[in-house]
Parts: sequence; structure tokens; C-alpha cells
Amino acid sequence: MAADFLLGAGALGSDTALVERPGASVPVFPPGPKSLAVLDQLSAAIGKANYTGLYGIVLASGSGAQLTDADGNTYLDCLSCASSTSLGYGQDFLVQAYAQTASVLQQSCFTYSPNEQAIALAELLITLMPGSGDYRVMIGLSGSDSSGGAIKAARKFTGKMGIIHFKNDYHGSTGLSQQASDFGNLDDGIYSNDPNFIGIDFPTTNAQALVALGEIALQIGINPVAAVICEAIQGDAGVVVPPEGFMATLRELTASNNVLMICDEVQAGMGRTGEWWAYQHDGIVPDLMVTAKGITSGYAPLSAVIGRADVLNSLGSGQHIFTYGGHPPSCAVALATLTYIQQNNLPAHAGQLGNALIAALQGVAAQFPAIMLEVRGKGLMIGIQINIAQDPLAGKIFATRCVELGAYVGFFGVNGDVVRIEPPLIIQQSDADFIVQTVAAVAAEMAANTIPPQTVENVKKYSIGV
Ligand code: PMP
Repeated sequence: MAADFLLGAGALGSDTALVERPGASVPVFPPGPKSLAVLDQLSAAIGKANYTGLYGIVLASGSGAQLTDADGNTYLDCLSCASSTSLGYGQDFLVQAYAQTASVLQQSCFTYSPNEQAIALAELLITLMPGSGDYRVMIGLSGSDSSGGAIKAARKFTGKMGIIHFKNDYHGSTGLSQQASDFGNLDDGIYSNDPNFIGIDFPTTNAQALVALGEIALQIGINPVAAVICEAIQGDAGVVVPPEGFMATLRELTASNNVLMICDEVQAGMGRTGEWWAYQHDGIVPDLMVTAKGITSGYAPLSAVIGRADVLNSLGSGQHIFTYGGHPPSCAVALATLTYIQQNNLPAHAGQLGNALIAALQGVAAQFPAIMLEVRGKGLMIGIQINIAQDPLAGKIFATRCVELGAYVGFFGVNGDVVRIEPPLIIQQSDADFIVQTVAAVAAEMAANTIPPQTVENVKKYSIGV
């Protein structure tokens, strides 16, 4: 297919994509007055459910891996807008990939009338799925709808309703994906308790893995289970890594019991952990996988389910359609993003740089064992477990202080006690060094009890979380 809309390819190899980070500089204590003015408007205009709020900081612009807030402070982005801005900001070749298509055909409503961009994207995604199966793709708009789409297909194909998922997993905020999530109380008061969704504790040790696998085998024995849905590394739960071998044994267990395995790669995928998909570290191939977030580097909302043709095609025509699904400019920008990641071997870059960063952060943790309990993750998917035994806000305070010093990290986990570092895949060694310095500086302040009182006050006021 003549991919003249694949403008991104033209820019590959040029310097334009890897914009240098001019450095972090936070002269106005955040959130500054301009951020606060927007926050006032927010509460008067937006329903509560839309906003969880990490710091109350309003973002205004970005360039490369640098973010600028409404008050002019600049930060090294260590959060990638929930791991969506995989190639950072101000990437003209992605803007052009989108705009070139939008200027000639901004929409085709794929479900009625296909377009070349969506087909080319699906073809590329199929090549990125390991294994040699007969694969198909279902395009959607968000990680939520695609996680739900995978569950739909698993149910239709198997004729069974049971879905095994892991506690604290996050798969999305729509019907099926929200029911499969089991993260905090996000489904509170919305669904009646559906016994078809079976939550299992996610293991972090070999002993826990044995218990989890035993429980899954038991549930498969007594319930009509269609699929197990999982994250190879739990993201929002606080970068929780299962013990080695767990995913592979889970794959064997599901396969030998005619239960499908769905890997949710919405956060861990796209090269972030050092492989295109995090499950590849375990040498497995799931029946279905879900991708979203970084697939367009934040330039458009787009997601996809990739997997077995027989499973996906068990859904009938129209059982997973969206007016904006397969939106041509969004597909063009996804193609340009994926092509850039592929041609610049960013999974390997993220793996090498990230694993060295993890090791360096573990070195910092060793100096402050009473504050940083653990540094874990793979590649550029990193979590720092903060000790909240003395102060339940310690994780949020640690993260907020990192932001005040110029590293825009996140905080996650059910207790908000895991500092999450998931920067754009394009960061360089100097950025990694800055992250280590910042984390060390904050740990030292915490150890010396010199965190500014204003930081703690701001956490109480602006760090809402879920
Ligand atoms: N799955 C995972 C693993 C996620 O991290 C998220 C978002 N945090 C989702 C699904 C939902 O994606 P979206 O917000 O795009 O619907």
C-alpha cells in the first residue's frame, strides 16, 4: 500500500524528534497562581469523577521530554501523561502525520467506509505481535474500550462469562474494563456485584505465585471461565512485578484448560520495559493483547486489540464499533509513532537506559532504607516504594517534592505510596542522571526532616488521587 500519509518516516533519522531538554527550572513554587486560577475554574465546571489530581499543576506546553506549566516552571517529564507521550512533546513529524491526513480526510467512519490509514496500522500491529498465528486487529479509542473489547471477544468465542483478573489491576473506566479492574473503589455504587468477575491476589513472590496459580486452577474448575486478563507488570497498582516464571506458568495453565489469556499492555507496552510488549520478557504469546496510550505519543486517542483471528472474529459485525474508531488522522499518527519506535530501536534504548536507571536508584535506596523501601520495574517503567509507616502521606510528599525540584514524577498504588517514573522513551543519559540526583536530594531532605512545610500543605490540598 502506498503510504504517502506516513509522513513520520520522512522525518526519521533527522534530529527533529529528539529535541534536547533545556533543563528543569522551577522558580515559582508549584502550583503557582496561574495553575490555581485554573483549578478554581475546574471545580466549577468539571464533574468530580473526571479528575483525580496529582499536584494541581496546570500544564501549558512541552518540548522533547520537557514540560512547562502555566506559571512558566519547566520540568523533566517522568510521567509521560500516564505513559501516553511515548516520544515526548513538540514532535513536528507527528503533527504533520496527523495534519496531512486531516487536511484531506479528517474522518471516514471506518465502520461504514474503511480508509487506508487504519488498514496500514492494523497490518503493522500484526507484525509486532510475536508468534506466527493468524491475527486480526480491532481498533478503538482508549485502553478501556479495548480491554472491554478483548473481554467481549473472549466471552463470545468461549461461550463462557467468567473473567479472572488480578486485584489492583487497572483495565479501564468503561463497563467490562471497569468491572475487571478491581482498583480501589472505582466501581463503587455503579455495578451490582457480578460473580463472573473473579479477583485473584497478584503475586510478588514465588510462594504467592503458587497460591495465585492454585486459586486460578480452582476457579477454572468450578466456574465457566472465558479468560484471564492481566498486566505483565501492574502499572497503576504501583509498578508491581510478578516473580520470574509466573506469567509463563499462567500461560501454560490457561492454555491447558482452554481458557484464553489477555495481556493488557496499555501501560507497559510500546517498548517501555525493553521489549515491545512486557509479556515478551516471559517468552509467552497471549491469545489477545491490548494496546493504547503511547501508540500515538499522545497526539490522538487510539487503542487496539490484537490477537487470534478465530477469537476476534467470533464477534459479529458491529459488536465493537465506534464512530471515531479507525479515525484516519489518528491512525496516521499511530503509524508514524510506531515506525519511529521501530526504526530507532527505542525498546532497546528504554531497556538499557532504564535498567541502568533502576540500578542507580537502587543505590540511592540503599543509602536511605528507612525511606525508599524498594525500587522495582523494568526499563523505563519504574516504581519506588516509599515507607508510609510513620506518615501515610509520605509517598505523595516524596513525589510532590521531586516535582518541586524539577522531576515531574507520579504517585500511584492503592495507598499512593509508590513514586512512578515512566518518562518518554526518548530521554537520554543526562535525564536519567537528573532523575537520580533529584530522588537522592528528596530522600536526603526526608531523612533530615527538611521537606518544606508548604510541600506538605500542598499535598493535603491538591493531591487527591483515587
Ligand atoms: N489498562 C492499563 C494497564 C492502564 O494503565 C490504563 C490506564 N491507566 C488502562 C488500561 C485504561 O486506559 P484508558 O485510560 O486509555 O482508557
